[in-house]
Amino acid sequence: MTVGAAAPPSPSRTAQSGTNPEQAMTRATSPEKTPVATGHGGAVASVDPDASAAGIEVLRKGGNAVDAAVATAAALGVTEPYSAGVGGGGYFVYYDAESRRVRTLDGRETAPRTADSKLFLEDGRPIPFAQAVTSGLGVGTPGTPATWQEALDSWGSKRLGTLLKPAERLARKGFKVDETFRDQTKSNRARFADFPATARLFLPGGKLPVVGSTFKNPDLARTYEELGDEGVDALYHGPLGRDVVRTVNKPPVDPDSGRTARPGDLSMKDLRDYRVERRTPTRTSYRGLGVYSMAPSSSGGTTVGEALNILERTDLSKASKARYLHRFIEASRIAFADRGRWVGDPAFENVPRKGLLSQRFADARECLIKDDKVLKSPLAPGDPRRPAPCADGGRAAPTTYEGENTTHLTVADKWGNVVAYTLTIEQTGGSGITVPGRGFLLNNELTDFSFAPANPAVHDPNLPGPGKRPRSSLAPTIVLDKNDRPVVALGSPGGATIITTVLQTLTGYLDRDLSLVDAIAEPRASQRNAARTELEPGLWDSGEQRRLEAIGHSFKQNPEIGAATGVERLPGGKWRAAAEKERRGGGSAMVVRPQP
Ligand code: GLU
Repeated sequence: MTVGAAAPPSPSRTAQSGTNPEQAMTRATSPEKTPVATGHGGAVASVDPDASAAGIEVLRKGGNAVDAAVATAAALGVTEPYSAGVGGGGYFVYYDAESRRVRTLDGRETAPRTADSKLFLEDGRPIPFAQAVTSGLGVGTPGTPATWQEALDSWGSKRLGTLLKPAERLARKGFKVDETFRDQTKSNRARFADFPATARLFLPGGKLPVVGSTFKNPDLARTYEELGDEGVDALYHGPLGRDVVRTVNKPPVDPDSGRTARPGDLSMKDLRDYRVERRTPTRTSYRGLGVYSMAPSSSGGTTVGEALNILERTDLSKASKARYLHRFIEASRIAFADRGRWVGDPAFENVPRKGLLSQRFADARECLIKDDKVLKSPLAPGDPRRPAPCADGGRAAPTTYEGENTTHLTVADKWGNVVAYTLTIEQTGGSGITVPGRGFLLNNELTDFSFAPANPAVHDPNLPGPGKRPRSSLAPTIVLDKNDRPVVALGSPGGATIITTVLQTLTGYLDRDLSLVDAIAEPRASQRNAARTELEPGLWDSGEQRRLEAIGHSFKQNPEIGAATGVERLPGGKWRAAAEKERRGGGSAMVVRPQP
């Protein structure tokens, strides 16, 4: 988060507003923010210094990486409330140093049991996307609190109540508003204003939070306290859950706003039935390393994995930058074509996971890439069950839209355990609906489903269903060496661009000889089986762009793609944490005992 020019808090405004009197009364200070930190005792990287500090505090007090990840995530729920929190879901990837194995938790939100494939249809037609986003209809059963508890029960060493304390304190005492927070509030202003509970919290006095002022969320502090004291049953069986259900089924919209906020159909049974799924991670071998990531219901692991298998056939370390980008763009295009056709919630869909990750399939697809030409888009999917070399027949479908905000944190501890955890409420600001009196926004994750088949002629694995998880792109990833020791762990927000960001950062680090922080900072490109590839400003108008256009590439600008964080293991028990230098105002890397 950016600590922008400190504007004085405005007590008069606060006094007049009478809505959230605790805002802006005192000034919070945030720990110093740096994109890279090296040292011993463990490391945390996130987008926000208060959140990284919460994780470091836990590590310092003897907690392990899982404990610290939960504390960091809870703090992000305070300082990044538009990206993540109690009202959302995510995927938790854990490397256990003792067994040298990677384990994962799927804490994705689920559709209500009454949902079917027509969830987002009205009179046989998809409802407008924006209406689905800001509605009860788009809200899935939150998976984040259950993920925290499951992670702690499985591998943690401290109680949830203890780990929520730093976040509870942060919510109560407040954090310093930065440009990013203000901008994100601004882009949500119109819809936030239509929900009194959201407006009271995030638009105190009807105004945007002032940069440099202190933002407090006492309701969220109480919610964390309740979760700490009562356990996550408060949500899945208790009063917090009842508040969520009531809010989803009758969104508390201002009747004078004129906004239609469609109701959802969530029940206490949906909450009671919610389960975090343990999944075998995806594994891709890449240049002698093992790349572990999230299996379906996320498409992150299989799509990054397939693209890596394709790229492995080119020596990227020797390629010119234009050739490297060409290969990266084409591998992404192909992997996205296959993702759209084959990946969905494995409880409902027969996902050919092994095939998607097989080198045989990747080779059959790699054969389509030409040095002097660009593949047409949208490209038709291949069939991983029967890989046919160079086949490009079949029907193509474009990649459906996903929101582009979420948050990723990466943690390592002194015992060598590592966590890569990406959590989300989907859109920036989720559904825009705050649970009254509870201090958090509900997700709009169900809008990650296809509203109608992406390709009417072919089965779409991502249509809604009862209790089904919408397909995700989250790709928290851990790379191990040949002795199953960690090399690097990373992840990013950014909806479907997560996949290309993780792929580009990994190849930047593993093949292009960039340090982790430079691989993260590198200007990004993102191709997702569309006619045009998105480029960040750092690549726009570059020599590479011109060389790629000369062979048929077509581009459009994307001002900012993703906001990655990662950790890398150095010799002698040292860690280096890395985060963004610029994006989202820069991220925060910390270690327990800094040492260059
Ligand atoms: N909902 C998206 C997913 O799970 C992520 C949204 C985002 O990164 O902003 O893939």
